[in-house]
Amino acid sequence: MVGIQSASEVTSWLVTGRILFLIIHVLGILCFAYIVARRMVPLLRAERDFRFDHHWLRLGRVLKFWLGQWKQPRYKLAGTLHIFIFAGFIVLAVRAFSVLIVGVSENFVMPGLAGRAGPIYDIITDYAATIVFLCMAIAVIRRLVFKPARYAVPPRYGKAHTADAIVLLSLIAILMVADSLFAAAKAAAQSQPGQSIETLAAFSLPWILQKVLASMSLPTLGRLYFGAYLVHELTFYFLLCYRPFGIQFHVETSLFNIYFAKLDREILKPVRWGVAEEHMNQVKSFGVKTFEDFTWKHILDFYSCADCGRCSDNCPANAVGRPLSPRFISIKARDYAFQHYPVIGRALDGTALVGKDSGGIYSEDEIWSCTTCGACETECPLLVEYIDKIVDLRRGMIDDGNVPQSLQKPLKALESRGNPYGKMEKKKADWANAKDFQQTCRVKTLDHPNDADTLYFVDSITSYDDRMQSIGRATAKILNHVGENFGILGAAEKDSGHEVRRFGEETLFMALRDHNVDAIKASGVRRIVTSDPHAYNALKHDYKDVPPVEHISQVIASELRAGKIKFNPVDDKNNVYTYHDPCYLGRHNQVYDDPRDVLDAIPGLKRVEMTRCRDRSFCCGGGGLMLFYEPKEDQRMGVKRVQMAAEAGANVIVTACPFCMVNMEDAIKVAGLEGKMTAIDLAELVDQQIARESQKVA
Ligand code: SF4
Ligand code: SF4
Repeated sequence: MVGIQSASEVTSWLVTGRILFLIIHVLGILCFAYIVARRMVPLLRAERDFRFDHHWLRLGRVLKFWLGQWKQPRYKLAGTLHIFIFAGFIVLAVRAFSVLIVGVSENFVMPGLAGRAGPIYDIITDYAATIVFLCMAIAVIRRLVFKPARYAVPPRYGKAHTADAIVLLSLIAILMVADSLFAAAKAAAQSQPGQSIETLAAFSLPWILQKVLASMSLPTLGRLYFGAYLVHELTFYFLLCYRPFGIQFHVETSLFNIYFAKLDREILKPVRWGVAEEHMNQVKSFGVKTFEDFTWKHILDFYSCADCGRCSDNCPANAVGRPLSPRFISIKARDYAFQHYPVIGRALDGTALVGKDSGGIYSEDEIWSCTTCGACETECPLLVEYIDKIVDLRRGMIDDGNVPQSLQKPLKALESRGNPYGKMEKKKADWANAKDFQQTCRVKTLDHPNDADTLYFVDSITSYDDRMQSIGRATAKILNHVGENFGILGAAEKDSGHEVRRFGEETLFMALRDHNVDAIKASGVRRIVTSDPHAYNALKHDYKDVPPVEHISQVIASELRAGKIKFNPVDDKNNVYTYHDPCYLGRHNQVYDDPRDVLDAIPGLKRVEMTRCRDRSFCCGGGGLMLFYEPKEDQRMGVKRVQMAAEAGANVIVTACPFCMVNMEDAIKVAGLEGKMTAIDLAELVDQQIARESQKVA
């Protein structure tokens, strides 16, 4: 090399650079391969998971969520920093590889970079190294000085991983400086009088360092050049082998985690992959009880969590002080994996995961606190899954007879009566028998095949809860108004089983589902409508072989577009409305626009959005059996939600779910907002505002 010896030629400790760096490469690669092989052991012992299909679709998702960093901008500053770091890493990957080889083979040039492309690529890498270095500096300052709240670790979840993060950020910064110093020393040596000058990108880190080094003697530059190269090599391999011990393991695993991510998030995972329902009685143990009961993909999730805290930042359970923070579901499991499957030594015996008293990593309350709202999964940039894991942990607890006291009665009632209230089946259609209602709308019970085209699936809460029956009557009147030939199953309808399934009672769910599927098929209907998003989600995703299902908000929106529904202006023009997205209508089924379109079509209705809306909606507290479970919490989720509505300037909360209605009305009272704030279901509001020429009776 001009002016100074190349790294491969320098002789130190009695060996040439070529031999020294060859030894470092071989040791570094062997060490990394061994650590990764050990990290794979729990995955190989884990349960099956079928993720080897739809390769093109999966590749497309890798392009979008991994290469395209699709979810990062949801957090502006942290997301932008991450995009820059990621882009820098991608650019520098080729350079890192060619720099590694230069130590062994001085004149190595990466294929494709020998001609004009070489200097252009060098300039890009100079800037990439500079940007990554600056991003590391900002990230360290953020973690140490500004300390965003979502990085904090409450004592009940263990120790903070700040030190780990700082070490890793610093190592990356050192790598960037060493790389830049290596390039700068070489350029400074070449710029000595009479020698050609290597072009460095103006104002980049190598360019600045080259200016600083310009006056140094050639021997000093030679030593700096070799020293920077050695530091680069050692840091590179240290970083490579250190990452699988902490949060930076996601650098290696994230691509695979996204490739194998669940494609149909709405569908809960089966009790055991590869075991058909009819053979379920052969399954010895349901759900997750020990670490090895997780599927290999779920363990890959634990390795891939970047500890960014976004899931917990959006988790309503975490926000109200319930003992659940999804981030720590992953972190605690990863710590467990590292401890029980050490890199050196034998794997330790599996212990029960749930039950702090028995040495588990999760408490019972933690696992029951989840409302399965999906906010965590929607937010996670690495597509880490939570609902399946939590449901699997619940299945394990239920299998062991570990059911919270308050849930035992409703579960028994569901088994014996088909509804969680223990009410008589024959009273199921009482909501439709009110005299004044019957004068405007008759609801037939589908006792014979082909009595109607459409089934209104009412579900338990709307059938039996006095307040929610009004949603049932409003829905029926809307269907009647648009001329729908519809009916209900009455006593033949059992609870949809949506929450039963999400509470881990798979066998009971299957019994409820099979009963309903038989009843629906016997009715001969071609379409199902429901006003309950939980029933909607169950019928759409948990049931098979039933006619297509629509939520009433979708029916109203399409009838509105067809001109079959017209609205009267609102009476009180001073009211300000806001729409609360129910989790199982919005986040789980992407029905965001139809309810809003309906509201916006009502003349004079003033609507505002809450900050947390659409896919960032804040769960009201959960539906179904959550109404029977009282977890420890500082505040009710519903109270937080009505406060959000008040902050948005609204005094009427519109929702489209009977469970949201229970929680909202309760929260308005608890928050002391009675008389200042009201809640109404979309179906009730539509029924109230529909312009009717005359009341039609079916
Ligand atoms: S699960 Fe996802 S969102 Fe949550 S901390 Fe880990 S990487 Fe971040
Ligand atoms: S599903 Fe909702 S409640 Fe459950 S952990 Fe995720 S964000 Fe929290």
